[in-house]
Amino acid sequence: MSSSSRVLVLNSGSSSVKYQLLDMRDSSRLAMGLVERIGEETSRLKHTPLASGGESREWTAPIADHDAALKAVSAELAKDGLGLDSPELTAIGHRVVHGGKRFTEPTVIDDAVLAEIERLIPVAPLHNPANLTGIRTAQALRPDLPQVAVFDTAFHTTMPESAARYAIDVETADAHRIRRYGFHGTSHAYVSRATAKLLGKAPEDVNVIVLHLGNGASASAVRGGRCVDTSMGLTPLEGLVMGTRSGDTDPAVILHLARVGGMSIAEIDTLLNKKSGLIGLCGDNDMREIRRRIDEGDERAQLAFDIYIHRLKKYIGAYYAVLGRVDAIAFTAGVGENAAPVREAAVAGLEQLGLAVDAELNAIRADGPRLISRAGARVAVAVVPTDEELEIATQTYALVGKNIKTVE
Ligand code: AMP
Repeated sequence: MSSSSRVLVLNSGSSSVKYQLLDMRDSSRLAMGLVERIGEETSRLKHTPLASGGESREWTAPIADHDAALKAVSAELAKDGLGLDSPELTAIGHRVVHGGKRFTEPTVIDDAVLAEIERLIPVAPLHNPANLTGIRTAQALRPDLPQVAVFDTAFHTTMPESAARYAIDVETADAHRIRRYGFHGTSHAYVSRATAKLLGKAPEDVNVIVLHLGNGASASAVRGGRCVDTSMGLTPLEGLVMGTRSGDTDPAVILHLARVGGMSIAEIDTLLNKKSGLIGLCGDNDMREIRRRIDEGDERAQLAFDIYIHRLKKYIGAYYAVLGRVDAIAFTAGVGENAAPVREAAVAGLEQLGLAVDAELNAIRADGPRLISRAGARVAVAVVPTDEELEIATQTYALVGKNIKTVE
């Protein structure tokens, strides 16, 4: 009974599946991997069998669809006795990008839930269809298992209307379900809680600004464990400068590009989502490369960095004002966890707000959550590695455990 404690976490994209298998008795990772380029001749599977401590296995061969991909993953897992048919698998947790207003919590998937995720496709055209494919494939393989949807938007459903609404005509907005939903919610939830833990406090007693800085980037203001504002909006395009996304722009830029620039909607979409942000500003979206170029005196890289930091600082100031009292600022994701110069520059000059980074602590490379604020600074500055898969597995396991108890 207690051995039935494994949760498989699936993050299904349109041509990829990322997965992790966890044992929830101790939250340990048994295996992880990635299938890429599904539907192409050169599909690639990389599997790391963590439980057995084996080497990563990687191969390239055609994988026709998500069904074939999951079967290939199961075959890799089965080499260590962990296949998808294993009776010890308790549940499958799926990352679902858009849960709209309705899904405020992780949810056991049934036909009605599937229909609602489908209904949300117009607001998440790139992500929800792929997430649905992953769910349906997993259901077909293990119809007996509970499957749980964990939504990227759920953590942000606590935002008040004053933060969630755009100041546009209410009827028009409602007719098209236009509002600020926010994304990266699983990460913001996990990191805000982990930050409270790092401070030795309960989440209810702590106000945190979370800066999730990866290739996609978002900030959130979390008061007592509940999100009160976040920088992404209707889609993950709003807010901070990102690897390839513009973040905030004057909406009239779009009108101008169409009217004066003669660009189509599809071209503007590609421009703002794929050719803007750091890559649009300097040709690179990897912060390591940008820092290397800055060290060589590259002015375009420097300007891209400065614009990135300026925007970040504006959000720190804005969320400081929204929260009134801030206990901690937490940096997370690829850039936030690794790029000390970004952390230093983002809080530089904010001593009046109680914010100061200790240069030595900031330079230390480490895996776990840690404080980098200067001794005596009023507000803690922390680096808190995010773990979205663990969060999805934890929420999935908690929900399935609860349901089993309810049935009994
Ligand atoms: P993520 O989306 O969270 O996986 O973050 C990916 C991004 O993190 C990359 O595009 C890089 O810009 C950044 N990154 C990863 N490692 C480092 C590092 N050691 N130093 C600076 N930036 C990094």
